[in-house]
Amino acid sequence: MPRRAFIVHFPVRLDSGKIKMFVGYRVHYNDARGPAKGGIRFHPELTLDHVKDLSFLMALKCAVVNIPFGGSKGGVVVNPKELSRNELEHVTRGYVRAIASYIGPFVDIPAPDVYTDEKIMVWILDEYERIKGKHEFAVVTGKPVELGGSKARSYSTSLGGIYVLEEAMKRKGMDKFEVSIAVQGFGNVGENAARILHEKGYKVVAVSDSKGGIIDKSGLDIKAVMEFKDKTGSVVNFSNATNITNEELLTCECDILIPAALSDQLNKDNANDVKARVVMELANAPTTKEADDIFFQKEIMLIPDALANAGGVVVSYFEWIQNLNNDYWEEDKVLERLKKTMITAFNEVHSLCDEKSCRMRKSAYQLALKRILHAERMRGNL
Ligand code: NAD
Repeated sequence: MPRRAFIVHFPVRLDSGKIKMFVGYRVHYNDARGPAKGGIRFHPELTLDHVKDLSFLMALKCAVVNIPFGGSKGGVVVNPKELSRNELEHVTRGYVRAIASYIGPFVDIPAPDVYTDEKIMVWILDEYERIKGKHEFAVVTGKPVELGGSKARSYSTSLGGIYVLEEAMKRKGMDKFEVSIAVQGFGNVGENAARILHEKGYKVVAVSDSKGGIIDKSGLDIKAVMEFKDKTGSVVNFSNATNITNEELLTCECDILIPAALSDQLNKDNANDVKARVVMELANAPTTKEADDIFFQKEIMLIPDALANAGGVVVSYFEWIQNLNNDYWEEDKVLERLKKTMITAFNEVHSLCDEKSCRMRKSAYQLALKRILHAERMRGNL
Protein backbone atom coordinates (compact mmCIF):
# COMPACT_ATOMS: atom_id res chain seq x y z
CA MET A 1 0.00 0.00 0.00
CA PRO A 2 1.28 3.51 -0.68
CA ARG A 3 2.60 5.47 2.28
CA ARG A 4 0.22 8.34 1.51
CA ALA A 5 -2.11 9.43 -1.30
CA PHE A 6 -3.57 12.88 -1.83
CA ILE A 7 -6.65 13.82 -3.84
CA VAL A 8 -7.01 17.55 -4.54
CA HIS A 9 -9.73 19.62 -6.19
CA PHE A 10 -8.84 23.08 -7.40
CA PRO A 11 -10.55 25.83 -9.40
CA VAL A 12 -9.21 27.25 -12.66
CA ARG A 13 -10.65 30.23 -14.57
CA LEU A 14 -10.87 29.23 -18.24
CA ASP A 15 -10.42 31.65 -21.17
CA SER A 16 -14.23 31.84 -21.44
CA GLY A 17 -14.37 33.40 -17.96
CA LYS A 18 -16.02 30.30 -16.47
CA ILE A 19 -14.47 28.58 -13.46
CA LYS A 20 -13.93 24.83 -13.69
CA MET A 21 -12.93 22.45 -10.89
CA PHE A 22 -10.12 20.02 -11.69
CA VAL A 23 -9.11 16.83 -9.86
CA GLY A 24 -5.46 16.06 -9.17
CA TYR A 25 -3.56 13.29 -7.39
CA ARG A 26 -0.18 12.85 -5.78
CA VAL A 27 0.88 9.52 -4.30
CA HIS A 28 4.03 8.89 -2.25
CA TYR A 29 4.43 5.14 -2.55
CA ASN A 30 7.47 4.92 -0.35
CA ASP A 31 10.06 7.34 0.97
CA ALA A 32 12.15 5.17 3.28
CA ARG A 33 15.28 5.53 1.08
CA GLY A 34 14.96 9.27 0.45
CA PRO A 35 12.52 11.89 -0.84
CA ALA A 36 9.76 10.51 -3.05
CA LYS A 37 10.41 10.96 -6.78
CA GLY A 38 8.08 10.65 -9.74
CA GLY A 39 6.47 12.31 -12.72
CA ILE A 40 3.35 14.38 -13.23
CA ARG A 41 0.92 13.17 -15.87
CA PHE A 42 -1.88 15.21 -17.46
CA HIS A 43 -4.40 12.74 -18.87
CA PRO A 44 -8.21 12.65 -19.17
CA GLU A 45 -8.40 9.01 -18.01
CA LEU A 46 -6.04 9.30 -15.06
CA THR A 47 -7.27 7.43 -11.95
CA LEU A 48 -5.97 7.27 -8.41
CA ASP A 49 -5.37 3.51 -8.78
CA HIS A 50 -3.25 4.03 -11.87
CA VAL A 51 -1.23 6.72 -10.12
CA LYS A 52 -0.68 4.32 -7.20
CA ASP A 53 0.64 1.62 -9.57
CA LEU A 54 2.94 4.06 -11.31
CA SER A 55 4.26 5.35 -7.98
CA PHE A 56 5.12 1.77 -6.98
CA LEU A 57 7.07 1.32 -10.23
CA MET A 58 8.99 4.53 -9.49
CA ALA A 59 9.92 3.23 -6.03
CA LEU A 60 11.22 0.02 -7.63
CA LYS A 61 13.10 1.89 -10.37
CA CYS A 62 14.92 4.21 -7.94
CA ALA A 63 15.85 1.25 -5.75
CA VAL A 64 17.08 -0.92 -8.67
CA VAL A 65 19.57 1.75 -9.75
CA ASN A 66 20.27 2.52 -6.09
CA ILE A 67 19.65 6.26 -6.08
CA PRO A 68 18.54 7.73 -2.73
CA PHE A 69 14.92 8.36 -3.65
CA GLY A 70 11.59 6.76 -2.91
CA GLY A 71 8.81 6.57 -5.47
CA SER A 72 5.84 8.80 -6.25
CA LYS A 73 3.58 9.84 -9.10
CA GLY A 74 0.90 12.42 -9.66
CA GLY A 75 -1.20 14.17 -12.18
CA VAL A 76 -4.34 15.98 -13.17
CA VAL A 77 -7.43 14.56 -14.84
CA VAL A 78 -7.39 16.76 -17.92
CA ASN A 79 -6.97 16.58 -21.67
CA PRO A 80 -4.22 19.15 -22.31
CA LYS A 81 -5.05 19.11 -26.05
CA GLU A 82 -8.36 20.80 -25.19
CA LEU A 83 -6.72 23.66 -23.27
CA SER A 84 -5.16 26.87 -24.52
CA ARG A 85 -1.57 27.58 -23.43
CA ASN A 86 -2.93 30.06 -20.90
CA GLU A 87 -5.36 27.51 -19.44
CA LEU A 88 -2.62 24.85 -19.30
CA GLU A 89 -0.47 27.23 -17.28
CA HIS A 90 -3.35 27.98 -14.88
CA VAL A 91 -4.11 24.27 -14.42
CA THR A 92 -0.43 23.61 -13.66
CA ARG A 93 -0.19 26.49 -11.20
CA GLY A 94 -3.51 25.54 -9.56
CA TYR A 95 -2.30 21.97 -9.11
CA VAL A 96 0.98 23.16 -7.57
CA ARG A 97 -0.87 25.39 -5.09
CA ALA A 98 -3.02 22.40 -4.14
CA ILE A 99 -0.08 20.01 -3.57
CA ALA A 100 2.57 22.52 -2.42
CA SER A 101 2.58 21.14 1.14
CA TYR A 102 3.32 17.63 -0.11
CA ILE A 103 6.23 18.36 -2.46
CA GLY A 104 9.67 19.88 -1.86
CA PRO A 105 13.38 19.13 -2.43
CA PHE A 106 13.46 16.84 0.62
CA VAL A 107 9.85 15.65 0.50
CA ASP A 108 8.79 14.69 -3.03
CA ILE A 109 10.28 15.84 -6.33
CA PRO A 110 8.07 15.85 -9.45
CA ALA A 111 9.28 15.47 -13.07
CA PRO A 112 7.68 15.28 -16.55
CA ASP A 113 5.55 12.33 -17.61
CA VAL A 114 2.87 11.79 -20.27
CA TYR A 115 1.72 15.15 -21.73
CA THR A 116 3.92 17.26 -19.45
CA ASP A 117 7.20 18.79 -20.56
CA GLU A 118 9.98 21.16 -19.51
CA LYS A 119 7.79 24.24 -20.03
CA ILE A 120 5.35 22.81 -17.46
CA MET A 121 8.25 22.00 -15.10
CA VAL A 122 9.23 25.70 -15.19
CA TRP A 123 5.67 26.74 -14.22
CA ILE A 124 5.82 24.23 -11.36
CA LEU A 125 9.14 25.67 -10.21
CA ASP A 126 7.95 29.26 -10.50
CA GLU A 127 4.66 28.69 -8.63
CA TYR A 128 6.40 26.75 -5.86
CA GLU A 129 9.03 29.47 -5.46
CA ARG A 130 6.30 32.15 -5.27
CA ILE A 131 4.62 30.20 -2.46
CA LYS A 132 7.89 29.71 -0.56
CA GLY A 133 9.23 33.20 -1.29
CA LYS A 134 12.67 31.90 -2.24
CA HIS A 135 14.49 29.92 -4.92
CA GLU A 136 14.04 26.15 -4.74
CA PHE A 137 15.44 24.73 -8.00
CA ALA A 138 15.60 21.23 -6.54
CA VAL A 139 11.81 20.97 -6.13
CA VAL A 140 11.32 19.62 -9.65
CA THR A 141 13.49 17.95 -12.32
CA GLY A 142 13.29 17.89 -16.11
CA LYS A 143 13.79 21.65 -16.29
CA PRO A 144 15.50 23.35 -19.24
CA VAL A 145 19.28 23.69 -18.90
CA GLU A 146 18.92 27.50 -18.71
CA LEU A 147 16.82 27.15 -15.54
CA GLY A 148 18.58 24.50 -13.49
CA GLY A 149 18.18 21.49 -15.80
CA SER A 150 20.95 18.95 -16.33
CA LYS A 151 22.89 18.42 -19.52
CA ALA A 152 22.05 15.12 -21.26
CA ARG A 153 18.71 14.65 -19.52
CA SER A 154 16.73 14.81 -22.77
CA TYR A 155 18.31 11.59 -24.07
CA SER A 156 19.29 9.98 -20.75
CA THR A 157 16.56 7.31 -20.78
CA SER A 158 17.70 6.02 -24.19
CA LEU A 159 21.42 6.21 -23.45
CA GLY A 160 21.01 4.58 -20.03
CA GLY A 161 19.21 1.70 -21.76
CA ILE A 162 21.99 1.37 -24.33
CA TYR A 163 24.66 1.14 -21.61
CA VAL A 164 22.67 -1.73 -20.11
CA LEU A 165 22.12 -3.35 -23.50
CA GLU A 166 25.85 -3.35 -24.23
CA GLU A 167 26.49 -5.20 -20.96
CA ALA A 168 23.76 -7.71 -21.83
CA MET A 169 25.34 -8.27 -25.24
CA LYS A 170 28.68 -9.06 -23.60
CA ARG A 171 26.95 -11.73 -21.49
CA LYS A 172 25.29 -13.18 -24.59
CA GLY A 173 28.53 -13.03 -26.64
CA MET A 174 26.86 -10.79 -29.23
CA ASP A 175 29.07 -8.76 -31.57
CA LYS A 176 28.18 -5.10 -32.11
CA PHE A 177 28.85 -5.31 -35.86
CA GLU A 178 26.83 -8.45 -36.39
CA VAL A 179 23.58 -7.64 -34.64
CA SER A 180 20.50 -6.05 -36.16
CA ILE A 181 18.11 -3.95 -34.07
CA ALA A 182 14.42 -3.03 -34.37
CA VAL A 183 12.93 -0.11 -32.39
CA GLN A 184 9.19 0.38 -31.90
CA GLY A 185 8.27 4.04 -31.29
CA PHE A 186 10.02 7.10 -32.66
CA GLY A 187 9.27 9.64 -29.93
CA ASN A 188 11.62 10.98 -27.29
CA VAL A 189 12.87 7.56 -26.20
CA GLY A 190 12.68 5.53 -29.44
CA GLU A 191 14.13 8.19 -31.72
CA ASN A 192 17.02 8.95 -29.37
CA ALA A 193 17.71 5.22 -28.95
CA ALA A 194 17.77 4.64 -32.72
CA ARG A 195 19.92 7.75 -33.25
CA ILE A 196 22.50 6.86 -30.58
CA LEU A 197 22.71 3.23 -31.75
CA HIS A 198 23.20 4.41 -35.35
CA GLU A 199 25.89 6.89 -34.27
CA LYS A 200 27.66 4.11 -32.37
CA GLY A 201 27.77 2.02 -35.55
CA TYR A 202 24.96 -0.45 -34.87
CA LYS A 203 22.68 -1.62 -37.66
CA VAL A 204 19.14 -0.43 -36.95
CA VAL A 205 16.97 -2.32 -39.46
CA ALA A 206 13.44 -1.24 -38.46
CA VAL A 207 11.71 1.68 -36.72
CA SER A 208 8.07 2.72 -36.33
CA ASP A 209 5.65 5.30 -35.00
CA SER A 210 1.89 5.34 -34.46
CA LYS A 211 1.25 5.40 -38.24
CA GLY A 212 3.38 2.31 -39.00
CA GLY A 213 6.97 1.25 -39.53
CA ILE A 214 9.77 0.79 -42.08
CA ILE A 215 12.38 -1.91 -42.58
CA ASP A 216 15.65 -2.18 -44.47
CA LYS A 217 17.64 -5.33 -43.75
CA SER A 218 20.89 -3.64 -44.73
CA GLY A 219 20.34 -0.94 -42.08
CA LEU A 220 18.48 2.39 -42.04
CA ASP A 221 20.15 5.79 -42.23
CA ILE A 222 18.57 7.03 -38.98
CA LYS A 223 19.66 10.67 -39.46
CA ALA A 224 17.84 10.70 -42.80
CA VAL A 225 14.79 8.98 -41.25
CA MET A 226 14.70 11.71 -38.56
CA GLU A 227 14.77 14.45 -41.19
CA PHE A 228 12.06 12.65 -43.15
CA LYS A 229 9.87 12.38 -40.05
CA ASP A 230 10.38 16.08 -39.27
CA LYS A 231 9.12 16.94 -42.76
CA THR A 232 6.25 14.45 -43.12
CA GLY A 233 5.22 13.69 -39.55
CA SER A 234 5.96 9.96 -39.83
CA VAL A 235 8.70 7.46 -40.69
CA VAL A 236 6.27 5.68 -43.07
CA ASN A 237 7.10 5.93 -46.82
CA PHE A 238 10.79 6.66 -46.17
CA SER A 239 12.62 6.00 -49.45
CA ASN A 240 14.85 2.91 -49.77
CA ALA A 241 12.86 1.07 -47.11
CA THR A 242 9.79 -1.17 -47.08
CA ASN A 243 6.71 -0.12 -45.14
CA ILE A 244 5.62 -2.56 -42.42
CA THR A 245 2.98 -2.54 -39.69
CA ASN A 246 3.85 -2.18 -36.01
CA GLU A 247 2.84 -5.82 -35.57
CA GLU A 248 5.32 -6.87 -38.29
CA LEU A 249 8.08 -4.82 -36.66
CA LEU A 250 7.70 -6.69 -33.38
CA THR A 251 8.16 -10.06 -35.09
CA CYS A 252 10.68 -9.05 -37.79
CA GLU A 253 14.08 -10.72 -38.29
CA CYS A 254 16.36 -8.97 -35.79
CA ASP A 255 18.64 -9.84 -32.88
CA ILE A 256 17.55 -7.07 -30.53
CA LEU A 257 14.03 -5.72 -30.15
CA ILE A 258 13.45 -2.42 -28.34
CA PRO A 259 9.82 -1.58 -27.55
CA ALA A 260 9.83 2.19 -26.89
CA ALA A 261 6.20 3.19 -27.39
CA LEU A 262 3.19 1.84 -25.50
CA SER A 263 2.39 -0.79 -22.88
CA ASP A 264 1.20 -4.38 -23.63
CA GLN A 265 2.70 -4.47 -27.14
CA LEU A 266 4.28 -7.89 -26.65
CA ASN A 267 1.55 -10.30 -25.63
CA LYS A 268 0.35 -13.90 -25.94
CA ASP A 269 -0.71 -13.31 -29.56
CA ASN A 270 2.73 -12.35 -30.88
CA ALA A 271 5.34 -13.43 -28.31
CA ASN A 272 5.87 -16.85 -29.92
CA ASP A 273 6.73 -15.15 -33.22
CA VAL A 274 9.37 -12.80 -31.79
CA LYS A 275 12.73 -13.62 -33.42
CA ALA A 276 14.97 -11.35 -31.31
CA ARG A 277 17.37 -12.89 -28.77
CA VAL A 278 17.24 -9.83 -26.52
CA VAL A 279 14.21 -7.64 -25.75
CA MET A 280 14.96 -4.36 -24.01
CA GLU A 281 11.95 -2.57 -22.47
CA LEU A 282 12.52 1.14 -22.94
CA ALA A 283 8.74 1.67 -22.77
CA ASN A 284 6.98 1.12 -19.46
CA ALA A 285 5.30 -2.31 -19.25
CA PRO A 286 5.44 -3.20 -23.00
CA THR A 287 5.38 -6.95 -22.20
CA THR A 288 2.41 -8.78 -20.69
CA LYS A 289 2.83 -11.54 -18.11
CA GLU A 290 2.00 -14.20 -20.75
CA ALA A 291 4.61 -12.87 -23.17
CA ASP A 292 7.16 -12.68 -20.35
CA ASP A 293 6.58 -16.42 -19.66
CA ILE A 294 6.98 -17.26 -23.35
CA PHE A 295 10.25 -15.30 -23.61
CA PHE A 296 11.60 -17.12 -20.55
CA GLN A 297 10.79 -20.52 -22.14
CA LYS A 298 12.37 -19.44 -25.43
CA GLU A 299 15.48 -18.21 -23.56
CA ILE A 300 15.03 -14.69 -24.91
CA MET A 301 16.81 -12.30 -22.56
CA LEU A 302 14.34 -9.66 -21.38
CA ILE A 303 15.82 -6.52 -19.83
CA PRO A 304 12.96 -5.19 -17.69
CA ASP A 305 11.67 -1.60 -17.74
CA ALA A 306 12.57 -0.96 -14.09
CA LEU A 307 16.22 -1.32 -15.12
CA ALA A 308 16.27 -0.56 -18.87
CA ASN A 309 14.53 2.84 -18.77
CA ALA A 310 15.84 4.07 -15.39
CA GLY A 311 18.45 6.35 -17.04
CA GLY A 312 15.94 9.24 -17.02
CA VAL A 313 15.44 9.19 -13.28
CA VAL A 314 19.18 8.71 -12.71
CA VAL A 315 19.93 11.98 -14.54
CA SER A 316 17.01 13.58 -12.66
CA TYR A 317 18.88 12.63 -9.50
CA PHE A 318 22.01 14.32 -10.93
CA GLU A 319 19.91 17.41 -11.71
CA TRP A 320 18.73 17.49 -8.08
CA ILE A 321 22.33 17.21 -6.79
CA GLN A 322 23.45 20.03 -9.12
CA ASN A 323 20.56 22.23 -7.95
CA LEU A 324 21.29 21.64 -4.27
CA ASN A 325 24.99 22.45 -4.76
CA ASN A 326 24.34 25.25 -7.25
CA ASP A 327 27.18 23.73 -9.27
CA TYR A 328 26.56 22.52 -12.81
CA TRP A 329 28.31 19.57 -14.50
CA GLU A 330 29.74 19.22 -17.97
CA GLU A 331 27.98 16.69 -20.21
CA ASP A 332 30.95 14.27 -19.95
CA LYS A 333 30.58 14.08 -16.18
CA VAL A 334 26.84 13.39 -16.43
CA LEU A 335 27.43 10.61 -18.98
CA GLU A 336 30.27 9.03 -17.02
CA ARG A 337 28.19 8.84 -13.85
CA LEU A 338 25.12 7.63 -15.76
CA LYS A 339 27.16 4.83 -17.32
CA LYS A 340 28.62 3.75 -13.99
CA THR A 341 25.21 3.73 -12.30
CA MET A 342 23.50 1.76 -15.08
CA ILE A 343 26.28 -0.83 -15.45
CA THR A 344 26.47 -1.39 -11.69
CA ALA A 345 22.69 -1.92 -11.58
CA PHE A 346 22.81 -4.32 -14.53
CA ASN A 347 25.59 -6.38 -12.93
CA GLU A 348 23.74 -6.54 -9.60
CA VAL A 349 20.50 -7.63 -11.23
CA HIS A 350 22.25 -10.13 -13.49
CA SER A 351 24.26 -11.71 -10.64
CA LEU A 352 21.06 -12.23 -8.66
CA CYS A 353 19.51 -13.70 -11.79
CA ASP A 354 22.38 -16.22 -12.15
CA GLU A 355 22.31 -17.05 -8.46
CA LYS A 356 18.58 -17.75 -8.34
CA SER A 357 18.18 -18.98 -11.94
CA CYS A 358 15.27 -16.61 -12.38
CA ARG A 359 14.37 -14.05 -15.02
CA MET A 360 15.79 -10.53 -14.85
CA ARG A 361 12.44 -8.91 -14.06
CA LYS A 362 12.13 -11.00 -10.93
CA SER A 363 15.70 -10.34 -9.81
CA ALA A 364 15.30 -6.59 -10.45
CA TYR A 365 12.14 -6.52 -8.32
CA GLN A 366 13.76 -8.65 -5.61
CA LEU A 367 16.79 -6.38 -5.45
CA ALA A 368 14.59 -3.25 -5.28
CA LEU A 369 12.21 -4.63 -2.65
CA LYS A 370 15.11 -5.89 -0.55
CA ARG A 371 16.61 -2.38 -0.52
CA ILE A 372 13.30 -0.69 0.33
CA LEU A 373 12.44 -3.18 3.09
CA HIS A 374 15.95 -2.98 4.52
CA ALA A 375 15.57 0.80 4.81
CA GLU A 376 12.19 0.36 6.51
CA ARG A 377 13.66 -2.21 8.89
CA MET A 378 16.59 0.01 9.85
CA ARG A 379 14.11 2.81 10.57
CA GLY A 380 12.20 0.45 12.83
CA ASN A 381 9.11 0.39 10.67
CA LEU A 382 9.18 -3.37 10.09
P1 NAD B 1 6.61 9.97 -26.89
O1 NAD B 1 5.20 10.40 -26.79
O2 NAD B 1 7.67 10.99 -27.14
O3 NAD B 1 6.76 8.88 -28.07
C1 NAD B 1 5.90 7.78 -28.20
C2 NAD B 1 6.14 7.16 -29.57
O4 NAD B 1 5.29 6.02 -29.69
C3 NAD B 1 5.79 8.07 -30.75
O5 NAD B 1 6.74 7.90 -31.78
C4 NAD B 1 4.45 7.53 -31.23
O6 NAD B 1 4.24 7.75 -32.61
C5 NAD B 1 4.64 6.06 -30.95
N1 NAD B 1 3.38 5.34 -30.89
C6 NAD B 1 2.20 5.76 -30.42
N2 NAD B 1 1.26 4.82 -30.62
C7 NAD B 1 1.89 3.78 -31.21
C8 NAD B 1 1.48 2.51 -31.65
N3 NAD B 1 0.22 2.12 -31.57
N4 NAD B 1 2.42 1.69 -32.18
C9 NAD B 1 3.70 2.10 -32.28
N5 NAD B 1 4.14 3.28 -31.90
C10 NAD B 1 3.25 4.10 -31.36
O7 NAD B 1 6.90 9.14 -25.55
P2 NAD B 1 8.32 8.78 -24.93
O8 NAD B 1 8.68 9.78 -23.90
O9 NAD B 1 9.26 8.43 -26.01
O10 NAD B 1 7.93 7.45 -24.10
C11 NAD B 1 7.85 6.19 -24.74
C12 NAD B 1 7.74 5.12 -23.68
O11 NAD B 1 8.89 5.18 -22.82
C13 NAD B 1 6.53 5.23 -22.77
O12 NAD B 1 6.12 3.92 -22.41
C14 NAD B 1 7.08 5.94 -21.53
O13 NAD B 1 6.32 5.67 -20.37
C15 NAD B 1 8.45 5.29 -21.46
N6 NAD B 1 9.43 6.07 -20.69
C16 NAD B 1 9.80 7.31 -21.08
C17 NAD B 1 10.77 8.00 -20.36
C18 NAD B 1 11.25 9.36 -20.81
O14 NAD B 1 12.28 9.82 -20.29
N7 NAD B 1 10.61 10.01 -21.77
C19 NAD B 1 11.34 7.43 -19.21
C20 NAD B 1 10.94 6.15 -18.82
C21 NAD B 1 9.99 5.47 -19.58
